[in-house]
Amino acid sequence: MDSDYQHILIAADFSSHSDEVCSKARQLAERNHARLSICHIVEDFPLTDFAYEPMISVDIDMRDALLEAGKKQLTKLADTLGIAASQQWVECGSPGHDIVRIADEQQVDLIVVGSHGRRGIKMLLGSTANAVLHHAHCDVLAVRLRDD
Ligand code: AMP
Repeated sequence: MDSDYQHILIAADFSSHSDEVCSKARQLAERNHARLSICHIVEDFPLTDFAYEPMISVDIDMRDALLEAGKKQLTKLADTLGIAASQQWVECGSPGHDIVRIADEQQVDLIVVGSHGRRGIKMLLGSTANAVLHHAHCDVLAVRLRDD
């Protein structure tokens, strides 16, 4: 059989299950002789809520600090997988939306997510996994993660 996938994207949230998701993606990449990329989205959060008046003053530096921290974490994880810096993406935004956007921009043909992330295993499928499955224009593998 021909290789099904040429470019596989891991969506990493640095939860305790990340290793399982990454190793599944790596196996698939090896089997398909596919390129492997990895991304992490630093979630945008409202800095102020006008219903409550500005509660916290968060400056632009905080966003940059979060991005910087995300980059550091992703580099560490990507290094263990042998993924080059040119194949790593850390961006601010909404995970469900931006994982799909990066996949489109980079012509990914398989996105690998965990069935659940940091928010725990309360539903069949986490909200990011669900959003990616609904909006992706390519195949999506949701690696089934179980509670420890
Ligand atoms: P969730 O749906 O948030 O429970 O997470 C399910 C999966 O989506 C995780 O196992 C990750 O693969 C991916 N994911 C969640 N949040 C992010 C994020 N901020 N950046 C990249 N991938 C994420």
